[in-house]
Amino acid sequence: MTTAPARTEDRTGVYVSALELFSIGIGPSSSHTVGPMRAGRDFARRALAALPDGPARVEGVLYGSLAATGLGHGTPDALVAGLAGLDPETCDPADVRGAWSGHPAGQPLLLGGTTPVPFDSAHVVLDPFFRPQAHPNTLTLRAFAEGATVPVLEETYLSVGGGFVERVGADPVPVAPGAGAPGYRTGEELLALCGAGRSIADVAWAAEAAYRSSAATTDGLDAIWAAMHACVEAGLDAQGILPGGLGVPRRARAMRDSILAAEAAGRPATADWLQAFALAVNEENAGGGRVVTAPTNGAAGILPAVLMYYWRFEPDADIEGVRTFLLTAAAIGSLIKANASISGAEGGCQAEVGSACAMAAAGLTAVLGGSPEQVENAAEIAMEHHLGLTCDPIAGLVQIPCIERNAVAATTAVTATRLALHGDGSHIVSLDAVIETMRQTGADMSDKYKETSRGGLAVNVVEC
Ligand code: SF4
Repeated sequence: MTTAPARTEDRTGVYVSALELFSIGIGPSSSHTVGPMRAGRDFARRALAALPDGPARVEGVLYGSLAATGLGHGTPDALVAGLAGLDPETCDPADVRGAWSGHPAGQPLLLGGTTPVPFDSAHVVLDPFFRPQAHPNTLTLRAFAEGATVPVLEETYLSVGGGFVERVGADPVPVAPGAGAPGYRTGEELLALCGAGRSIADVAWAAEAAYRSSAATTDGLDAIWAAMHACVEAGLDAQGILPGGLGVPRRARAMRDSILAAEAAGRPATADWLQAFALAVNEENAGGGRVVTAPTNGAAGILPAVLMYYWRFEPDADIEGVRTFLLTAAAIGSLIKANASISGAEGGCQAEVGSACAMAAAGLTAVLGGSPEQVENAAEIAMEHHLGLTCDPIAGLVQIPCIERNAVAATTAVTATRLALHGDGSHIVSLDAVIETMRQTGADMSDKYKETSRGGLAVNVVEC
């Protein structure tokens, strides 16, 4: 397994840029769709560097959780789309669907978008029974020269959650020149950097300087917010049945119409809006639409829902508040990613929905005027009440329980914020303690409950 990037370890502690933690991509899964697509794209570039006229054959094997729930997540399609050079941030999601399952027999694959290579869908194999040691989401890609049985190039990638991909054996990421922000590795260290008017978002802002100019960071944060907002609106407008065969109907639009009718009759429905926002995003995700990984796709509805709640119902909401929300959430998400996991295949749903809920609670607390201690408290409350939550999606689709779970977690994030704001920031269980508890719980959790669809709801609900 590759080591953690020197950039984050040495200069800015565990902090991961908000522009990486929140990446604009496609549904339905960050680890099972976006990550493999990025791996395929990276491999295509390397294969064409090794064999400029193009390999005679490219093969891929999906292992562990990537294979167990890969068909439901569209993993082989995403991998092949990545091999064809598509970028999850800019591609048309319609071009990804069917890239593998609908690949026409006898047609070549345009490797890297430029070089035709003979390809058959049988060249991508799913092996759910092999248990990779390094990470449950592992895939290996091979490129062969004409007539060769030994690959010219073989790379193994780990899709570690949130769309992040590590190439086994890769060198650490070089340190960004000019980086000099104080680092933190724990919640306690993060709080020690705050005070005297310095907020958690201020610490994150200083850390962002290790990556790019402040203007570029502002533009990136605003683009993330615009994509989240657009995703909510798209989900509220869409209707029909979600793909995958479960027959799950989209509900966000009907809920919106019902809320509007209630409001027209003089009945405020603020809490209902919060849940409708979350349903809208997760239905877009389940439909393979454009979503922002936050910090994963399965949990992508929670942050946008809470942020929309702030935007729509807080009288003082403004774009500065949105940036503060995202930076605060990134600071907390970085802690969880470094010290536990944001991957459902590694830690169960507590690592996905629990993490997103903690991040959203932290962001909302910050923009509602909470102190750093209250922000830390809100994140801790939100995570604490997701401990032990398993990942058991029916048919490997990010639909049941995922869509409703995001709506419930958005409500929990707001509750955690309110509890924290009614306190003074002092509390018994620290965020560090609850993150470590989540890590241990995930390590002890049976593999059946870690994005394999071999336990829980996935085996107790008959698929129609
Ligand atoms: S159950 Fe949770 S972790 Fe599993 S796919 Fe659904 S949202 Fe992701």
